[in-house]
Amino acid sequence: MVAAADATARARRELGAGFEGELIGPQDADYEKARALFNAMIDKRPAVIARCASRDAVAKAIGFGRSQDLPIAVRGGGHNGAGFGSVDDGLVVDLALLRSISVDPDTRTVRVGGGCTWAEVDAATHEHGLAVPTGIISTTGVGGLTLGGGIGHLTRACGLTIDNLLAADVVLADGQTVNASADENEELFWAVRGGGGNFGVVTDFTFRAHPVSDIVGGPTFWPVEQTGEVLAAYREYLPTLPHNVNGFFCWHTVPPGPPFPEEIHMRKVCGIVWCIVGTDEEAEQAMAPMLEVSEPLMHGVGRMPLPELNSAFDGVYAPGDQWYWRADFVNEIPDEAIARNHEWNEKTPSWKSGSHVYPIDGVAHDVAADETPWAFRDARWSHVIVGVDPDPGTAAALRDWTVGYWESVHPYSAGGAYVNFMMEEGQDRVKATYGHNYERLAKAKATYDPANVFRVNQNIEPAA
Ligand SMILES: Cc1cc2nc3c(=O)[nH]c(=O)nc-3n(C[C@H](O)[C@H](O)[C@H](O)COP(=O)(O)OP(=O)(O)OC[C@H]3O[C@@H](n4cnc5c(N)ncnc54)[C@H](O)[C@@H]3O)c2cc1C
Repeated sequence: MVAAADATARARRELGAGFEGELIGPQDADYEKARALFNAMIDKRPAVIARCASRDAVAKAIGFGRSQDLPIAVRGGGHNGAGFGSVDDGLVVDLALLRSISVDPDTRTVRVGGGCTWAEVDAATHEHGLAVPTGIISTTGVGGLTLGGGIGHLTRACGLTIDNLLAADVVLADGQTVNASADENEELFWAVRGGGGNFGVVTDFTFRAHPVSDIVGGPTFWPVEQTGEVLAAYREYLPTLPHNVNGFFCWHTVPPGPPFPEEIHMRKVCGIVWCIVGTDEEAEQAMAPMLEVSEPLMHGVGRMPLPELNSAFDGVYAPGDQWYWRADFVNEIPDEAIARNHEWNEKTPSWKSGSHVYPIDGVAHDVAADETPWAFRDARWSHVIVGVDPDPGTAAALRDWTVGYWESVHPYSAGGAYVNFMMEEGQDRVKATYGHNYERLAKAKATYDPANVFRVNQNIEPAA
């Protein structure tokens, strides 16, 4: 391996003046900014960051990294909890300059550069009254979220993000670019719909968009002490609702600022964040039984453009906080699990820490468990626990709370977890997550990346 200090100079020499993009090394003024990850708990110092402006630049950067025996990380939006968008002493293939978006309203499709964020996609599709299912924070990268699955406000109505992926242009480990779709390189297309960045660098995604423009959305909050009755009602009621109604369950501390009423600032709450694709009457009807369970502290639900809901929490979760993650897929939420969730959310280590239970049924259940790598198609919920705080001094407390909470509720889970909600938790956890699909993924890995060049991720080891 080349010494980290030499790598940038060597990259400049070998990739030459014709390299379409930027090369940034530890000596450069913008290195600190360029290497920073969304999760400030992860502090990696790459030897060289190659910001690639074209597919050709991606191929050349991969070739350079391999020739120098540098570990290679691929960076989309840089949001990954485990920090897989970067690597110590290695090469980061940074896609931030691949930002083109083109919407075709006639075919309801959108082609998106591999370095885009969801805010950009949302803005472009919304102009045409269309939407692609995304996550709940709009600064997240399209790349990592899509390749891992993609859960959000439209999951019940339109499926996971991977269920809406029509094609991907992939630069493989050997530098070749291939198109993966239902008609071409079918096995690669199967693998990238949930198998993460294991198979190559996606420079362009093509998605199906849906005619969704305005929605009825926002949070209903109850005091955390009412977790027992509210979650028990929610677990029974939500699955009976039509697919156009989404509502994820959450535990939070009410942020200390607008739009939240001052009298509930910093109150620990449980709640539901709604997203209903329908009329005001349909929305009221869908929410009414939950509002009757108990008087909420706040019912902040109204009609709004979908991008407004998709970015509503961006301000609370700006880049640079410390994050620790744990997650599980869940089939049932028995009373004992409710009690444990309640207990741990009474003692969050910071006001930004909390937990979400996302419904992953509805249209996401119409896809068979071997049609994509997402093995848990029968699971009803995806549970995530996050310890979050700006102060690096709280890192150990965030980790202890998150892991303690997870250990307490894990016995009630289905086994694996959503790959995008995990830290680096080892091979057993990755295998548990892909379940019966792991072997097929390992074979695809052996075909497309036999040397495991793309290993800075929830890694799938190539089949022998
Ligand atoms: C605040 C916050 C909110 C979130 N909310 C949601 C949510 O609502 N729903 C949800 O599903 N997830 C959510 N996530 C999780 C998110 O999906 C993952 O963090 C995801 O990995 C982020 O993708 P990224 O491109 O930003 O990350 P990166 O750190 O850049 O990349 C993550 C992984 O994907 C690979 N990768 C990224 N782009 C490409 C590409 N174009 N080609 C090949 N490999 C690539 C990287 O190599 C790396 O292994 C959230 C994360 C955060 C921090």
